[in-house]
Amino acid sequence: MTKKTVRDINVSGKRVLVRVDFNVPLENGRITDDTRIRESLPTIKYLMEKKAKVILCSHLGRPKGPSDELRMAPVAGSLSHLLGAPVKTAHDCIGSEAERAVEGLRSGDILLLENLRFHPEEEQNDPDFARALASLADVFVNDAFGTAHRAHASTVGVTHYLPSVAGFLMEKELEFLDKALNNPVSPFAAIMGGAKISDKIPVLEYLLGRVDSFLIGGGMAATFLKAKHFPIGQSLVEEERLEFAADIIQRARQKETPFLLPVDLVIAKSSSPTSEFKTVLIDEVPEDWRIMDIGPKTVALFQNELRRCKTVIWNGPMGVFEFSTFAHGTRAIAQILADLDAITVVGGGSTAEAVVSMGLASRMTHVSTGGGASLRFMEGKPLPGVEALLDRRAPPVREGV
Ligand code: ADP
Ligand code: MG
Repeated sequence: MTKKTVRDINVSGKRVLVRVDFNVPLENGRITDDTRIRESLPTIKYLMEKKAKVILCSHLGRPKGPSDELRMAPVAGSLSHLLGAPVKTAHDCIGSEAERAVEGLRSGDILLLENLRFHPEEEQNDPDFARALASLADVFVNDAFGTAHRAHASTVGVTHYLPSVAGFLMEKELEFLDKALNNPVSPFAAIMGGAKISDKIPVLEYLLGRVDSFLIGGGMAATFLKAKHFPIGQSLVEEERLEFAADIIQRARQKETPFLLPVDLVIAKSSSPTSEFKTVLIDEVPEDWRIMDIGPKTVALFQNELRRCKTVIWNGPMGVFEFSTFAHGTRAIAQILADLDAITVVGGGSTAEAVVSMGLASRMTHVSTGGGASLRFMEGKPLPGVEALLDRRAPPVREGV
């Protein structure tokens, strides 16, 4: 890790502002998945043990100004329960209310500020807002990997005013993704799927030349199949990406990188959970049907390739996994990865959601908590929230050695 972490600074007795990703799914004010809160516990517990005054901040949902449905109170309740310690709250994240709450903190206390996005200045990376937020603390810790790809006031703005380091979740995410992508144990395979090829072009580009094989499923397979002149019926195809699809297949061939496409498919009359469906070979898709999942022969083909791999990165579900009829391909791939003796890294919001919902997250080496951020990382692009943190000092050059 080239960035300083919370281990590298003295936090004892200090006011420490921690950007966490508490953007949890809510239903009628109830948290339906507390993974993100759990993932932030190591940093919070460490700071409590070191007797810091812990000031947590996060966004929640997409509010347009203050909204009672998107207050942080349920998150504070959940966090307090998980920590077995009280968590104070404030009715705002800046200004006199927040300042008073911070003044009341003793060493080891925890305060959760109100939803950052009640202020539009947060997403605008407004310098005055960032300064007001930074003025609450002596040190800044960014543990919100999930928002590291966005330059907002609480991820980049505050770093102009405070010494800024990474938290443990941020460190873990960066280390696993970096090792898998940039220093993989080979053979290294990439499984790619999801809705659209256009979302994944930079990822495919970055991985070409790094991976030893590509395995393609999901909606984007349709564009590749069409580029190879297979019938794809009513499947969503990105006509303007056909050229790219043909080109990347060609470039993979030049590099002798296997580029595995489905050999059979589950197709449906309509995109609905109750639609009529059947399994066909790739040259048998009727004009009025559409591709919904990969078929069992494709799963076997992929399994055969994955069996020899030592590192696998997976982004994009193999089918419309939200409908159980079309979740078999995604489930099968998740199970294969779970059983594989290899480094397995899952990135992307929907893919992580699928793996978690199938109860297989703990069987993977790493499931990224940051959908967009992990995708950006897989594109080989810098994350502004990470770039803004303090660099670890380069080791001194020793002369005469
Ligand atoms: P991630 O968030 O993991 O990066 P994407 O956002 O690219 O993944 O894609 C996820 C979506 O892709 C899911 O909602 C899933 O229903 C959809 N999808 C997968 N396969 C197909 C398909 N054959 N046709 C249409 N949509 C698909
Ligand atoms: Mg997605």
